[in-house]
Amino acid sequence: MTNFEWLSSVISNMDIIYTDTFDSLLDALGRDVTISSSTEVNCPNCGWDNVSQTSNGQYSPDSPYPEDIPGPTPFTGICPICNGKGKYKTTTTSSIKCLIRWLSPRDRYYISAGMIEPFDVELKTDINNWDILNNADNITVDGVDVSIVSMRKDGFKTVNCILVECRKK
Ligand SMILES: [Zn+2]
Repeated sequence: MTNFEWLSSVISNMDIIYTDTFDSLLDALGRDVTISSSTEVNCPNCGWDNVSQTSNGQYSPDSPYPEDIPGPTPFTGICPICNGKGKYKTTTTSSIKCLIRWLSPRDRYYISAGMIEPFDVELKTDINNWDILNNADNITVDGVDVSIVSMRKDGFKTVNCILVECRKK
């Protein structure tokens, strides 16, 4: 075995240990963090007016009608589903497991000295949660609503986790 082969096999083994250890830690010590994200769709209960960019005030239910939106509800005047906006916002909530670290008073000292960008809590989670975090409108950590300050991928050799810094809302 050459030195290079030896080194790369050591690195591969350490990488596996690093990834396995993180998975076990997340499993044992991770807490559920609630993520809510919203998507806006054209209101399925009424028609759309291209000129005013709102509901056209006509009952025009989509078929099939989406299961996660109230209705279809016949109406005259203002569509009761979108209140005449022509758009309907749905919020989906899910939870992901994260290692959670709230900042200590010592961390805050460095923040007040301007050495760290202000954040209140750091989350570490599996790389597969990237999209769900990226689309999050609100994140609830230990009952506190926070928003993301920064998000980066991390790992030893294999990118296996995400570090997320969040600030209280
Ligand atoms: Zn509508």
